[in-house]
Amino acid sequence: MREYDIAIIGLGPAGSILASLLSDTFSVIAIDKKSDSPASFHKPCGGLLSPDAQKEIALLGLNLPKDILVDPQIFSVRTLDLDSGLCRSYQRMYLNMDRHRFDLWLASLIPPGVTVETGCEVTELRRTGEKYVLTYKKERQSIAVGASFVVGADGANSLLYRFLYPNGKDRRYVSIQQWFTDRNPQPFYSCVFDSENTDCYSWAVSKNGKFIFGGAYPYRNSRKRFEKQKEKLQKSGFSFGEPEKTEACLVRRPNSLRHFRFGKDYAFLIGEAAGLVSPSSLEGISSAVKSARILAEILNSGCKNPNRRYGLAVFGLRVKLWLKLLKCPFIFNRFLRKWVMKSGLKSLKGKNLTL
Ligand SMILES: Cc1cc2nc3c(=O)[nH]c(=O)nc-3n(C[C@H](O)[C@H](O)[C@H](O)COP(=O)(O)OP(=O)(O)OC[C@H]3O[C@@H](n4cnc5c(N)ncnc54)[C@H](O)[C@@H]3O)c2cc1C
Repeated sequence: MREYDIAIIGLGPAGSILASLLSDTFSVIAIDKKSDSPASFHKPCGGLLSPDAQKEIALLGLNLPKDILVDPQIFSVRTLDLDSGLCRSYQRMYLNMDRHRFDLWLASLIPPGVTVETGCEVTELRRTGEKYVLTYKKERQSIAVGASFVVGADGANSLLYRFLYPNGKDRRYVSIQQWFTDRNPQPFYSCVFDSENTDCYSWAVSKNGKFIFGGAYPYRNSRKRFEKQKEKLQKSGFSFGEPEKTEACLVRRPNSLRHFRFGKDYAFLIGEAAGLVSPSSLEGISSAVKSARILAEILNSGCKNPNRRYGLAVFGLRVKLWLKLLKCPFIFNRFLRKWVMKSGLKSLKGKNLTL
């Protein structure tokens, strides 16, 4: 069995950034079930890079290659409230990008000294003495590797999270997203509230002649809710047509400080595996990059108690996301939202319509 200092599960933004920043004095293996083959798993995502995420990328001294961006770049979000029938536009500074290409670009930054296994799923994890043993599937073969430190960068359904916190409580939704040929008169970005079908929200965004519609729904009847919502939106002028692709995954949506978990016993959670997602917008790339950067600094410093140091260092991030919970009633409570939207607060004046 091959032994490494650090094993990273998952090469989304969190895992790739961590693998790029770790000191070359460590032997590192990074394993991800996705690959660059067209048939590979693609993370369902709105693919919008928020100003916070842009800042994190700038802090790493990175510039975004232009082929990651898609057409068009949209500077306002049309917010539709199906409960009240109100519609408002708000300015947004997101970059509209191809999420899969973004992930592959980040993975391409990993230095050659790191052993990267793509198209491989970690299926088992155990602790023997001081070591962690991970088993992953590679072309029907099972391979076991040992590691002194293990990092879960494996997203909402993290294997490491379930291993460390088998009774851990968190709030998750089923996120469903479909791709269509864009037949809408003008490309747009929209955000939809519809308390009949979800207490979270849905989005629609145009990308390179395609149109994505997706939302986060409670587990029960999630697919039914998605279809019902599409029917409602069709009546409000959305044009869907035949879906070309349907994607689904889980999404974490913390609603208490207990929902953030960072690991123990030389095992660490970063990004969405740690619960680091905005409960108000589901934005998570900025926190994935930030938590990876913080963990890399701590591991590279060689400090004696890295779990404790990491827990303290992410305190600010935890509080920032928790504070977003205070905003939630004004977004997700239908009466407060109606009041906010009616007031026109922060909306783009002259661009507001009713449905
Ligand atoms: C539908 C949807 C839309 C979203 N839209 C946005 C948005 O527009 N902007 C934004 O900032 N955030 C968005 N988010 C949140 C954002 O996608 C996540 O917060 C972010 O991707 C977290 O990054 P991560 O690296 O922690 O995890 P992920 O990006 O989820 O990466 C986890 C990686 O682990 C791999 N993996 C998982 N399990 C295993 C295993 N057992 N073995 C091997 N590999 C494994 C996966 O292949 C994946 O590559 C959205 C989320 C969803 C669900």
